[in-house]
Amino acid sequence: RAKGDGRGVARVFQEEMERNARELRALELDLQTAWKDGQLHLAYQPIFEAESGALAGFEALARWHHPQRGMVPADVFIALAEETGLILPLGAWALKEACRAATQWPSHLFVAVNLSPIQFRGAQAFHQVRAALDASGLAPERLEIEITESTLLLEGPMVRATLDQFREEGITITLDDFGTGYSSLRYLKMLRIGRIKVDRSFVEEVEHSAQSRAIVEAITSLARTLSLRCTGEGIETEAQRRIMTEQGCSHLQGYLLGRPGTAEEALRLARATVA
Ligand code: C2E
Ligand code: MG
Ligand code: MG
Ligand code: MG
Repeated sequence: RAKGDGRGVARVFQEEMERNARELRALELDLQTAWKDGQLHLAYQPIFEAESGALAGFEALARWHHPQRGMVPADVFIALAEETGLILPLGAWALKEACRAATQWPSHLFVAVNLSPIQFRGAQAFHQVRAALDASGLAPERLEIEITESTLLLEGPMVRATLDQFREEGITITLDDFGTGYSSLRYLKMLRIGRIKVDRSFVEEVEHSAQSRAIVEAITSLARTLSLRCTGEGIETEAQRRIMTEQGCSHLQGYLLGRPGTAEEALRLARATVA
């Protein structure tokens, strides 16, 4: 279970699948069934303030427990859902579900939801977010939308317009896995990104690699200069926690601090916190 949702497992799984295109096709069909039968659920991973250690919010992460194969890594089934178009209803469901869960928590806690680039082709993203907020009654200020650089690379006027609308509503736009893609600094200002998440791959090596350390320093000082919130993801060791805090990350997320848990576990943790 320890490496149950690590990137390594996802890679092995993916390689296995790629060796067998028929298997992949079968998994795709299973995903359709899983979706129809409601086999998908959301896990919630806590995100903490770096300095005080106080709980700040949760990231919603999709989970698929396959009846025969066990847990299918999110990277794998999200990619499948993107290929088949299932990501559209799945994305709408994740938004609704996560916003509804957050209304149960104390109101100083936020919820972060990942959106796929596919949701930004057309006006889906905006309508799905609006619908989730309306249905749940969640204050938009408590919602963070996590996008990756691949969404920004769509370069469409639709992406720009949608992100503008989100911001006008008071929703925070978060740039996930920062540093791994084509990180145009221009985007950060132009799209008024509210938060960046330093990719786990840099955090992983921050203790031992001078290069990763330098990249982390560059990212965190950029965040400071532009007054962006900054989350260090994938914190697994005490040393990583200390270094990322010293580097000026405002928030931290990782197995050391809290693993993704069920909605019930998140609710219990949320209610145990004082504002
Ligand atoms: P992400 O958004 O960057 O999410 C962080 C991933 O890192 C999660 O993997 C989380 O479980 C994992 N993680 C957190 N802390 C640690 C740690 O300390 N060590 C390690 N090794 N891993 C840690 P997960 O849940 O497998 O999700 C993988 C990716 O799948 C996500 O990366 C996100 O890109 C995508 N994803 C998950 N749920 C959704 C969803 O509802 N919609 C969309 N579009 N994408 C999703
Ligand atoms: Mg994310
Ligand atoms: Mg990430
Ligand atoms: Mg990721």
